Amino acid sequence: MIYLDNAATTKPCGEVIEKANEMMKTLWANPSSLYSLGMYAEDEIESARASVAKLIGAKESNIIFTSGGTEANNLAVFSALKSTRHVGKRIVASAYEHSSVLQVLKSLEGYTLTLLPPESDGTISAQRLKAALTPDTALVCIMLTNNEVGGVNDIKKLVQITRENAPKAHFHADCVAGLGKTPINALAFGADTLSVSAHKIHALKGTGALYFKNHVKPLIMGGEQERKLRGGTQNAVGIACFGKACEIVRRDFSKNQNNAEKLKARVLQWAEKLDFVKINAKNSFPYVTNISVEGIRSEILLHFLESKDIFISSGSACSKGAKSHVLKSLNISEKDIDCAIRISLSCENTENDIDRLFEEITNAFNKLQKR
Ligand code: PMP
Repeated sequence: MIYLDNAATTKPCGEVIEKANEMMKTLWANPSSLYSLGMYAEDEIESARASVAKLIGAKESNIIFTSGGTEANNLAVFSALKSTRHVGKRIVASAYEHSSVLQVLKSLEGYTLTLLPPESDGTISAQRLKAALTPDTALVCIMLTNNEVGGVNDIKKLVQITRENAPKAHFHADCVAGLGKTPINALAFGADTLSVSAHKIHALKGTGALYFKNHVKPLIMGGEQERKLRGGTQNAVGIACFGKACEIVRRDFSKNQNNAEKLKARVLQWAEKLDFVKINAKNSFPYVTNISVEGIRSEILLHFLESKDIFISSGSACSKGAKSHVLKSLNISEKDIDCAIRISLSCENTENDIDRLFEEITNAFNKLQKR
C-alpha cells in the first residue's frame, strides 16, 4: 500500500502503539483519582504536556489538552471573543482557514468578517493583513500552514503587524498542519493561541492541545480537569501517545525534513516532465503539493489509484465532497479544481512511492483520456 494522504491523518507509529498498549493495560485509571493508580495516569498526562510544550517552544502551564484540533480551534475563537467584547466586532482571517475555524467565524452574529485570499505560493501577505486591520479588530486567525495547498506563513511577522495595527486583537494560529513539519516556537511567534492535533503526527485521533499565552476561557465546563479550563475525564491514552509522538518528532525532525524535501523535489520533477500535470500552489513546504491532472476528475483518479493500492485525496477530509474553498481562494479555475488532488507526505514515504504514483497517474491519463 502507498499512502499519500498524511494531511488527512497519519498511521500510528510502532512506538505510539506500544505506548497505547501500556496505557490501556496498566495506566487506565481515572487521572483525577487520588489513589496511586490515578496518579500514575496523571503523571503520564503531565509528561505528555511537557513533551508537547517542548516541541512548540512553550511552557507546560500554557498547554491544555482537548479532543483534537477542531475543539482547540473552537476554544481559541470563542475564548478570544469573550475576552475582546470591549474591543470591537471585526474579525480578520485567511480565506483558507480550516473549516473548524472558518465555519465558526461565519456562524457568528454581529461580527464583520474580512477574509484574506492567499498569494500564489499559498501564503498570506503581510501587506494584505496590514490593510485589513483596524484598531477595533477583535480577532485575527491565520493558520501556520495550509492543509490543502501547503505554504508556510510567517506567524511572527503577521503577529507583529497585528500588534502594530490592531493592538487589542487576539491572534490565533492553527498549527495543526504544520506540527512536526515546520518549526513552531510559541514564544517567538508571540501569538495568543496556537492549536495542534495528535493524529497528524502518527499518534491517535481524538486528542489535541491548545497553547495559550495569557489566559483562556473554557468552552467545555463541568469538571476540575485541565485546571478547570476544559472539563471531562482526560483521554489519558491519547494524550500519552501524543506526548510520545512529540518526542519522536523532536528526535527525527531533521531526518524527516530531508526526506520530505527529497520527495518534494521528485514530485516537482515529475510534474515538470508531464505536461498534463499542473501544480496549483508553488511553494517551499515539502509535505503538501496540490496538483491537477488535465481532464480527469479527482474522484475518478482517486478510485483509479485506489485500485492500484495508492491512497490519496482531493483535499480536506473534513470537507468531504464539497468544492474546495481553499482552491477557490487561490483563484484556481473550476476546471482545475475538479481535477485537483493533494499529495501529502509523511516520514514513511519513499521516492519509490512518488514514482509509482506518477507512473499510475500517467497510466490513468492514457487510459481515461482515450475513452
Ligand atoms: N486544522 C487543520 C489545518 C487540519 O488539517 C485539521 C484536520 N483535518 C484540523 C484543524 C482539525 O483537527 P482534528 O481532526 O484533530 O479535529
